[in-house]
Amino acid sequence: MSFVFPAPTVPSVPVLDSASRFPVHRIYCVGRNYADHAKEMGAEVNRTQPTFFLKPADAVVTDGNDVPYPSATSDLHHEVEMVVALKSGGRDIALDAALDHVFGYGVGLDLTRRDLQAAAKAKSLPWDVAKGFDASAPVSSLRAVAAGAHPQHATLSLLVNGEPRQNTDISDMIFNVAEIIHELSKLFELAAGDLIFTGTPAGVAALARGDTFEATLGGVASLRGRIV
Ligand code: MN
Repeated sequence: MSFVFPAPTVPSVPVLDSASRFPVHRIYCVGRNYADHAKEMGAEVNRTQPTFFLKPADAVVTDGNDVPYPSATSDLHHEVEMVVALKSGGRDIALDAALDHVFGYGVGLDLTRRDLQAAAKAKSLPWDVAKGFDASAPVSSLRAVAAGAHPQHATLSLLVNGEPRQNTDISDMIFNVAEIIHELSKLFELAAGDLIFTGTPAGVAALARGDTFEATLGGVASLRGRIV
């Protein structure tokens, strides 16, 4: 196989306690998956059908790296989220088989150009430019799941400049991990390398240049970085 120019590098994320990295295929995101966040955004809580959107795989920024403040916004928001990493996939995955596809877990920030998202919502336009921009998906190193030990409860929290901004337990999610995989697989063929950002709790707010952030998911994973 030859390419007309060098093929892009596969985006990847470190795996804790491993010398091998997790190659990223796609990044799926769930919107409005915590009732308190839906409420703060003035959105309906929908318990029948999750809201999905995507980010490009090369939007990942790995732990400890700077995040450039994006262009075309004056209201960059943080959304701390549990991240699910898949080791396999498929279509129409049954609910009771969904967790078998999980490689591991991490924590990430679904960075959002909130001003562009508000403008898009007002005109019923797509969210892509608000959500899918360069470096919009900082994600921690991943923790491979120990035999059957999928976290049911874990504290998900975010500090900005050392001050608490967001804090919840993942058991407050409207759609749990198995339900998310099951629903996504009706819409897309899931695959090894997919990351799923599972939604944010209340407390989303602005980030400025120079801010440092520290996101944690219980004893599972943590993510540090800085907006520059
Ligand atoms: Mn989000």
